[in-house]
Amino acid sequence: MPENVTSAILPPDAANFSGSVPVLVIGGGGCGLTAALSARESGAEVLVLERDASALGTTSMSTGLIPAPGSRFQKAKGVDDTPEIFAADIMKKTRGQTDPDMALHMAREGAPTVEWLADVHGVPFSLVDSFLYPGHARMRMHGTPNRTGSELMGALHQAAERLSIDIITDAPTTHLFADKSGRIHGARITRPDGSIEDIGCDALILACCGFAGSRELLSQYIPEILEATFFGHPGNKGDAMRWGRDLGGDVADIHAYQGHGGLAYGQGVPILWAHIIRGGFQVNAHGARFSNEARGYSEQAVDIVAQPDHFAWSIFDESIHEMMKEFDDYQDAIKADCIRHAADVDELVRITGLPEQLKQTVADVAEIAEGKRVDPFGRDFSIGKPLKPPYKAVKVSGALFHTQGGLVVDKNARVLRADKSPLPNLFAGGGAARGISGPSCWGYLAGNGLLTATAFGRLAGKAAAAQIKASS
Ligand SMILES: Cc1cc2nc3c(=O)[nH]c(=O)nc-3n(C[C@H](O)[C@H](O)[C@H](O)COP(=O)(O)OP(=O)(O)OC[C@H]3O[C@@H](n4cnc5c(N)ncnc54)[C@H](O)[C@@H]3O)c2cc1C
Repeated sequence: MPENVTSAILPPDAANFSGSVPVLVIGGGGCGLTAALSARESGAEVLVLERDASALGTTSMSTGLIPAPGSRFQKAKGVDDTPEIFAADIMKKTRGQTDPDMALHMAREGAPTVEWLADVHGVPFSLVDSFLYPGHARMRMHGTPNRTGSELMGALHQAAERLSIDIITDAPTTHLFADKSGRIHGARITRPDGSIEDIGCDALILACCGFAGSRELLSQYIPEILEATFFGHPGNKGDAMRWGRDLGGDVADIHAYQGHGGLAYGQGVPILWAHIIRGGFQVNAHGARFSNEARGYSEQAVDIVAQPDHFAWSIFDESIHEMMKEFDDYQDAIKADCIRHAADVDELVRITGLPEQLKQTVADVAEIAEGKRVDPFGRDFSIGKPLKPPYKAVKVSGALFHTQGGLVVDKNARVLRADKSPLPNLFAGGGAARGISGPSCWGYLAGNGLLTATAFGRLAGKAAAAQIKASS
């Protein structure tokens, strides 16, 4: 749908339904497939509508890591964690500006969701125990063997196939049919040949993410990140938010988003923040540091955008380079020749083309890391190790990954009006719903995206199926 056309809500008598399903899911990313698995398993027939030729979404571009405090994977490795500890991390990262009940609710749903996906649906999760993500008090990220979202999506597709869940691709939803009470009767899709099809439903789950793919909505709500490189799913145009609003649903945290301060410049390969946490740092075109890089990768994006020519160099060393090889994305960065090698600081200056100031910056960071002086940006370098030559360097840009504001939902993912009453049969999760990242970019804690996609997906599928059962 062109960006300048507002998605429409049509009256039910405008529909010509070719058929009907109990649960209809719009969007075939992580949230949509999880919702479909959950609805099906709860006894409801379900159909997924996906705009693209393949159902992949932002999820397939991601690292696929989900936080799950108290999981059996953590217990097996002796990690002592609880939802309460995680919820406290979320509240700290958001400076207290997200709903504490929802933060705890999501924290509590992490382990059951990951264990359910692993044990019931065969997603091969394991605990990432090689480094601690910024803002997390415990190692609690769970990922598939290669730590990629494409692998996660592959596993979700296999599970969906096992349950004979139908996914219609090349099927962008353009309109919803709803009566005056806000009850959804179905959706209209437009096929690639221009033909339209109307599909009825008893409950609708919006799993079509946020509006990172809409320049128009970004200009309106998050202009600070327009100059960043967009590295999200271009098909996410904010449809869920527009429809939900038209139906009387409430929207919150509309300025929130997940940025990233480590996208390999011109190559589109994310360099995971582990390279910073372990002691790496970033400099601008003057060879000077400009922030406390360890606060988080999301807020670093907008700081890079504010630098001359909107780029930075990440500087790290050989031991960090070796540790980073665990991640498929990093292997891609090596293959794409993004990672530069320098035997010493003179060579570092030469290969980066940065001014001599870089030498002073490297020396300053060494002194800070050795505890000889305090970092002017307030970073605690004791978490990593002081860097040693040979060095590694990668030029990066600030990136926008996805938006975190959206439709306000209750604990069962039902979309709420401003007066907190639920719309009759509308659910939302993942990027379509308000996240747990507060009102801006700095509240995003690694894992918030897929946690709310999979946990709300699971809850939405279950609740939609239960609602249909109760009314039949
Ligand atoms: C590089 C990168 C790394 C990341 N790493 C992590 C990580 O490790 N952990 C984490 O928690 N989060 C991570 N994220 C964020 C995470 O990927 C997202 O939060 C999550 O994938 C959102 O899931 P979703 O199902 O809501 O949306 P998506 O996966 O984007 O799925 C939405 C789907 O809806 C479809 N759609 C949109 N509009 C329509 C329409 N009108 N009709 C039909 N279909 C429609 C889209 O085509 C898409 O397939 C990362 C993101 C990026 C870009």
